[in-house]
Amino acid sequence: MSKDYEVVIGLEVHVELATKTKIFCGCPTAFGGLPNTHTCPVCTGMPGSLPVLNKQVVEYAIAVGLATNCAITRYCKFDRKNYFYPDNPQNYQISQLYLPICRDGYVEIETPAGRKSVGIHEIHMEEDAGKLIHDEWEGCSLVDFNRSGVPLIEIVSEPDMRSAEEVIAYLDKLRMIIQYVGASDCKLNEGSMRADVNLSVREAGAEPFGTRTEMKNLNSFKAISRAIENEKNRQIDLLESGKPVVQETRRWDDSKEYSYAMRSKEDAQDYRYFPEPDLPPVEISDAWIQEIKARQPELRTQKQERYQSEYGLPAYDAEILTSSKRLADLFEATAALCHSPKKASNWLMGETMRLLKEQEMEPEDIHFSPANLAKLISLTEDGSLNSTVAKEVFEKIFQEDIDPAAYVESHGLKTVNDEGALRSAVAQVIEENPKSVADFQNGKEKAIGFLVGQTMKAMKGKANPGMVNQILREMLKP
Ligand SMILES: [Zn+2]
Repeated sequence: MSKDYEVVIGLEVHVELATKTKIFCGCPTAFGGLPNTHTCPVCTGMPGSLPVLNKQVVEYAIAVGLATNCAITRYCKFDRKNYFYPDNPQNYQISQLYLPICRDGYVEIETPAGRKSVGIHEIHMEEDAGKLIHDEWEGCSLVDFNRSGVPLIEIVSEPDMRSAEEVIAYLDKLRMIIQYVGASDCKLNEGSMRADVNLSVREAGAEPFGTRTEMKNLNSFKAISRAIENEKNRQIDLLESGKPVVQETRRWDDSKEYSYAMRSKEDAQDYRYFPEPDLPPVEISDAWIQEIKARQPELRTQKQERYQSEYGLPAYDAEILTSSKRLADLFEATAALCHSPKKASNWLMGETMRLLKEQEMEPEDIHFSPANLAKLISLTEDGSLNSTVAKEVFEKIFQEDIDPAAYVESHGLKTVNDEGALRSAVAQVIEENPKSVADFQNGKEKAIGFLVGQTMKAMKGKANPGMVNQILREMLKP
């Protein structure tokens, strides 16, 4: 590469809102379900059916707008975006072009070079399309309209990002804000958060933007990073060899790690937008905005402060626990049940995070109940479980949400605290290991560790190690 290039990135993020019903009808939004069971004449585009706006969609959009420092449009309208596609039965999508609900916001991200603000151009409300399933075996395509009419907000950023790291930091921040507001669970793997990346490159220091491409089909942070690196290099190669970058929409294939052109990038006029005639404009009063503001749940920074003052947690714990709404909720529920906030925090920051990482899961995928974690903590506190066995039992809780008390009982895992039983086990170990005993008595402190280990082994790991250590020292006194 002979010149220095700068990459310029803007994002369009689609988020499925957590409403119980669809945006313009009463059908459920639940993920999954047999194909075409969550449908009605409205969301399958039957002639003569009419949309009715779900108030909760507007409230979620306003809540996200407020949390991302946007101005709320007091008089907003819906528009028709016309296009044909088999998963779109109306032949148009109800969206917002002229008067989107939120405009001119920003979020702050942390970058290696310090704090940076990423502008939000607008947030608009729209409906999702259905899903096409291509059956290669039968040589046909099938359509499922369960997702048709699920409410979305599209968050359009300014082209303010300059690297994959900044994009990930922005998405992470956005996800956290939306989860805290309760507007969506933002699961990338289930498609409730989807990002399209607009990317161009220009020579470092150049004023005008280069020609941009849009990349779709990015469903994990890793895929987004890889796609950005790949597209940046592809555009630089084109420029270096004197070829133009074509404005187009490209599809990223993460398994093959390359993108291919889907279609030339369309402009707004291609869709023949016009005001949606079946829906009246939405007028948003100050009182309504105030009401939504007042209902806003505690945000992350407030939570961090409260965890330190109310539970006496270190700042570090408060930061990790609040990094996901799910983790924070789990922590609060567990702490309330077991009254040991620091222990609840330790289990979540330690073993839970370790298992999440090992199994490539997100905190949102955790499905064990706070009640079972709280029970486990109580079992360790009253000496019924030693820490090694407790970790084993926790893995079971993490995987299958078992009741630890019942599990420990039925598997005979209870720690032996009976002094008589421990004494006879220790006596046996002393008798069988004269060399280590002599070593210890000659001042080799380390030898006691081995003897504790042998006793634990003899007790199948179920002894109280503190007591074993104490009894050993007592019995080995010269
Ligand atoms: Zn419906």
